[in-house]
This record gives sequence, C-alpha cells and structure tokens, in this order.
Amino acid sequence: MERVLIVGNGYAGARAADVLGALGGFEVLQLSDEAYPAYCRHLLPGLASGERVPEDLFLPPGDGNGRVAGARSGTAVSRLFPKTRRAHLSNGEEVSFDHALIATGARVFVPEILRHIFGRCVNVIAMRQMKEALSLRRILEGGKRRVAIIGAGRIGVLLAEALKRAGACISLVDIAPEILPTMLHGDVALLLRPHLEAEGDLSVLAGRTVASAEMEGETVRALHLSDGTVVPCDAVVLATGVVPNTEFLEGEGRDLADGIPVDDRMETSMPGIHAAGDVIRFRTVTGKTAPGQLILNARLQAEVAARNIAGERATCPPLFVGNVVKIGPVIGAVAGDVDGTGTEDYRVGDSFLRVTLEGGGMTGFQFVGLPEDLRGLVPGVLKRFDAAWVRQALAAPGGPGFSPRVLAGAGAWV
Ligand SMILES: Cc1cc2nc3c(=O)[nH]c(=O)nc-3n(C[C@H](O)[C@H](O)[C@H](O)COP(=O)(O)OP(=O)(O)OC[C@H]3O[C@@H](n4cnc5c(N)ncnc54)[C@H](O)[C@@H]3O)c2cc1C
Repeated sequence: MERVLIVGNGYAGARAADVLGALGGFEVLQLSDEAYPAYCRHLLPGLASGERVPEDLFLPPGDGNGRVAGARSGTAVSRLFPKTRRAHLSNGEEVSFDHALIATGARVFVPEILRHIFGRCVNVIAMRQMKEALSLRRILEGGKRRVAIIGAGRIGVLLAEALKRAGACISLVDIAPEILPTMLHGDVALLLRPHLEAEGDLSVLAGRTVASAEMEGETVRALHLSDGTVVPCDAVVLATGVVPNTEFLEGEGRDLADGIPVDDRMETSMPGIHAAGDVIRFRTVTGKTAPGQLILNARLQAEVAARNIAGERATCPPLFVGNVVKIGPVIGAVAGDVDGTGTEDYRVGDSFLRVTLEGGGMTGFQFVGLPEDLRGLVPGVLKRFDAAWVRQALAAPGGPGFSPRVLAGAGAWV
C-alpha cells in the first residue's frame, strides 16, 4: 500500500487526511508539531481572552478533524528530502513516503530588530498556535491585564478586540500610520478605528516603533517607543505578520520565502510533492499570485491535492483573496486587488464602500460598515462585474446608498 505523508494538521492537512481516508487505498501518516488535534485557529483570540476553552476549538469528527489512524501530534518533520522521498522527524526517526502533502501553514514573522530587543523574554508571545494563546491566557488569569500588541494587522486587531471585551488594558502599536495597513487604505482604516477604540481600555499607538524594552530579569515590564512613549506591560504579543513554514525544505535550491509555488493541481515542482494552505502561493481570480491565509482556500486546495495524490485529475480554480475583521457590530473587509489607481467611493446603506475598477472590471473593494451591507459585493469581484455597470448601479439616484443585492444581480461580466 502506498504511503502518503501529510506534514501539518491545520485546516489543510486535516482536510486532506479526511479526503484520503474516505477515498481509501493509502496508508496516511500525518505529522503535526503541535500537541493538539486539528483546531479552529481563527478562534485563538477568544481562547486567549478566556471567552473559549480549548475544546471549543477542536474540529468536530468528520469535519477534517484530522484524527486519522496515522495521525501523530507533537512530532515535526525536521527535514524533507523530495528526491529520495524520505523525511527526518524531530524524534530522530526517519520515514519514507510515496507522496507527500506539505500543509505546514505559516508562523509569525519577527523582524530582526524585535528579535534583538526581546531575545528570549518569558512574557513575549506570538499569536499563531494554541500553546501561545494559552500562555497569554495564563498571564491574564494571574491578575495581570496590561497587554502590548505589536502589529495592528488582522490578527493584532482581532486579538485586541477580544482582549478588550475581557477587560484587559491594550496598547496596540504599529509602525504604519493606521491600523490594518496591509488590508485597508489608511483613510478607510481611519473609519474603522473609532469602533476599535470605543469602550474598554484600548489605545492605538500608530506610526511608532519599539525602540527598547525595560526588563526585570527575563520579563518585559515596559516598551519604549520611537516617539518617547512608555508603555507599561505585563505581556507583549507579536502580531508582526506571517512567513510560510518551509525551512524544513531548505537546501532544495528554491526561493520559498513567499510560499511554495504550485500549479492548479496543487503540485509543486518537486516530484511527488503537493502543497496546500498558508504555506503556498497560488493564482487569484485577478490573475496575480498571492499567499494563502484563508480557511476556505486551505480546505479547497487540500481537497484538490488529496484527489490528485489519489490519482484523480482535480484542478483548483483561481481563488479569491480577502479579509474580514469584526469590531463590535461593525466589520472592515477587503476583497480582491485594491492596489490599483481606479478607486471610487460610495455609500452602501449605512456603510462605506471603496471599489477598485481596473481594466474595465471590478477587481476589488474595501468596506467599513454593517455586515448586511456587505452582502452581494464579493460576487462583484469573483465575477469581475463590468466597471461601467458597477459605476452606474452604485451611483443610481433615488435614495441614500445602493442595495448590494442589486449589485449581486449584475449580469454583465467583463
Ligand atoms: C488569530 C487568527 C485569526 C484568523 N482568522 C481567520 C478568519 O477569520 N478567516 C479565515 O479564513 N482565516 C483566518 N485565519 C487564517 C487561517 O487560520 C489560516 O488560513 C489557516 O489556518 C490555514 O490553514 P493551514 O492548514 O494551511 O495552516 P495552519 O492552520 O497554520 O496549520 C499548519 C500546521 O502545521 C504545523 N507545522 C508547521 N511546520 C511543521 C513541521 N515541520 N512538521 C509538522 N507540523 C508542522 C503547524 O504547527 C500547524 O499546526 C486566522 C489566523 C489566525 C492566526
């Protein structure tokens, strides 16, 4: 019986294990460096804040929970040799395989300067794994409540919002002038920020860097920022972006820093090796390549990879990239490509919408407002609605804003 090695037990690895299990005919060996069964990573902020317990996060049986016979937690692949189809494991074992799926996701990227400042401090935590969320929770449960979050991207903002609800005192620091710098244009993010700062004890310290840390032994007691601000803290969370986990493939002579390139069958250029999820870069609906970071994409890519490993001919369509953060009743969202110059602003119901219209079609949008006003806009990007039609529909007279349900019904594709 052929052996499939699945490296990683996140959404992608777990989904692939389930699909291969259902198809049958393979010995599946699934390795995860984490000590837990597959879980919902996006719920980590709620776990850190005490709103959830670990059991709430575990994927239910039959939903890609990855509890296949050959699943092993707490064992990493330390080195993978694609040519000889062998892998070295962290426990010293060596395993061979016929096919492999790399589903190792991403880890928090820590800039060199912060690595230098924090060294091996005991109260500096990343926010990517369950053990990290639990360690922040323990600090908060010990009666300490001052948390400095470095990085006001999606994860930093989601964590800040969850900790604020739990009564923590949050300082959210970012080098960029506004929150969510890789997601929204600064003036759009500015519309969302008051919702984040409303109620609770939360300060956004944007446009500043961490200059140094005040230490007590191995514990950070305060951050000194580039503008002279001093931020006392009981814990520091690094939410400074992510980088794909590909180091165990290093030495293969490829540049994998932005993710492993795959074709539409999720096959890498290494024979017999597929990859899926946050560890890859893939083709988007607007024709660019982008890194992962969406659960739905990870699951779909993993299913395609598993089917191809099993000998089927499955292909993955170009996928959608987008992001959403919910702050109280309001959401900030981005979809598609928003870097183009052809942007136009509209009001949709009670919400703000900036559409990007490039090459005669709708290539992306940014949104701040109520979830019901967002409905229907995603198909505009997915189907690349005709720019003239979108413009006319959004500017239609007869009342404030425009019903996105009408936009969803647009028949004019570019
Ligand atoms: C706080 C937070 C909030 C998020 N919110 C959302 C959201 O609202 N919506 C959304 O769509 N996405 C969200 N995401 C992103 C989403 O979680 C990822 O897109 C998804 O987890 C990707 O799945 P994956 O299986 O590719 O990788 P992961 O879930 O990262 O799983 C990879 C696994 O492989 C393990 N691994 C790494 N290297 C090795 C190795 N060498 N050997 C063995 N195991 C290894 C890792 O430890 C990890 O367990 C969020 C992420 C975070 C952290």
